[in-house]
Amino acid sequence: MTKKKIFIAGAGPSGLATALFLNQQGIDCTIVDKKNDISLYSKALGVNPRTLELLEPLHLTKTFLERGRRMDRINLWYNDTLLFVNNLNRIKHKYPFMLMLSQHESEQILSEACLKKGINLHYGVPFESFKMEANSKGVYVDAGNHSGKFDFLIGADGAGSKVRDQAGIEMDGFSYSNEWKLYDIELEMDLNADEGHIRIFPKGAMIMLRITENLWRLAGNFHDLLDHLPNGTQMGQIKWESAFHIHHKMASKLTAESVGIIGDAAHLHSPVGARGMNLGIEDAFTIAQLIHDDRFHDFDKIRRTYLKKTVNRINTMTMTLAGNGASSRFMRRQLPWIKYVFPLLMPQARKFIMGLN
Ligand SMILES: Cc1cc2nc3c(=O)[nH]c(=O)nc-3n(C[C@H](O)[C@H](O)[C@H](O)COP(=O)(O)OP(=O)(O)OC[C@H]3O[C@@H](n4cnc5c(N)ncnc54)[C@H](O)[C@@H]3O)c2cc1C
Repeated sequence: MTKKKIFIAGAGPSGLATALFLNQQGIDCTIVDKKNDISLYSKALGVNPRTLELLEPLHLTKTFLERGRRMDRINLWYNDTLLFVNNLNRIKHKYPFMLMLSQHESEQILSEACLKKGINLHYGVPFESFKMEANSKGVYVDAGNHSGKFDFLIGADGAGSKVRDQAGIEMDGFSYSNEWKLYDIELEMDLNADEGHIRIFPKGAMIMLRITENLWRLAGNFHDLLDHLPNGTQMGQIKWESAFHIHHKMASKLTAESVGIIGDAAHLHSPVGARGMNLGIEDAFTIAQLIHDDRFHDFDKIRRTYLKKTVNRINTMTMTLAGNGASSRFMRRQLPWIKYVFPLLMPQARKFIMGLN
């Protein structure tokens, strides 16, 4: 191990992946999470090919593939009419599909790998505060029994990041006013269970993805999602029901002296495109590499422009599919007519969803 010592606040997918990438570079780190255990509820389901590629040197891709299920196609519907099929396996890549795996399982795999490698991972330990050392030579971190002096502090502590706030980093952007609904519900119906479905209606959009067996994830920007299921659907038990607000926000910078922020602490956007967790894992790979190369301060320069473009593009997709304004509604009504240009747009859309843009 080199002499560098890193502290990571937050053991979600971004923090855990950072710890593993640092460990692979021979760099010592401590990672804490305020929660006592990995959440049973799952936000992200889609693990993209770029992430699967990044996890290869950690020898974790095989485990992800074994525990997940591949999804080769995403269908775009307008009301009950199928407009377009996006064949993900047209992409030239060794993993030409999205892997469906609950975020709970993804975190479990990453967390188990940390423990196996002897990384200092501690649950039930909140990060409290930090103080920059004189001459910016490191940072003193207050986190109960794990407090101490570190070379760098990485905030992987999610949307409400304390690290980001204490570093004085602003989030630029806005929050959407309307609430999104989410259901994990048992369904019996005719939709192809191995494919993804984006169902567009004049008033918004609903994403339907099967999690396991007959359990489906529904998420959409209107309240009566359950009244808009395909004809003949039989509903079973609701396993999880939630409501959330989506944001379109990007940190004004990714580093401040010896502090960096990654994942949801640095960028927030809608689940359209399935990029959030995947982007966080890409951030983790980049920041670990830069720390290894003694280029921590280049993280902002190297990564922020790409992140900003990506977040902006997700916002355009979200506005088109699920925006509330008159122009979004107008666009959606034109979908049956403009479907003829989809084949031209799809190669780019495919690359984007799969993290290969
Ligand atoms: C409905 C929905 C569907 C989604 N689908 C996808 C998808 O298919 N694909 C995809 O890539 N993304 C998806 N996302 C986004 C994805 O869930 C997030 O982008 C991802 O969780 C971000 O990971 P993170 O590690 O940066 O942050 P988080 O997952 O929020 O983890 C932050 C961690 O920090 C801890 N923490 C917070 N404060 C402190 C503190 N003071 N001290 C110590 N620990 C602290 C928290 O307990 C938490 O464990 C989806 C999101 C939603 C809401």
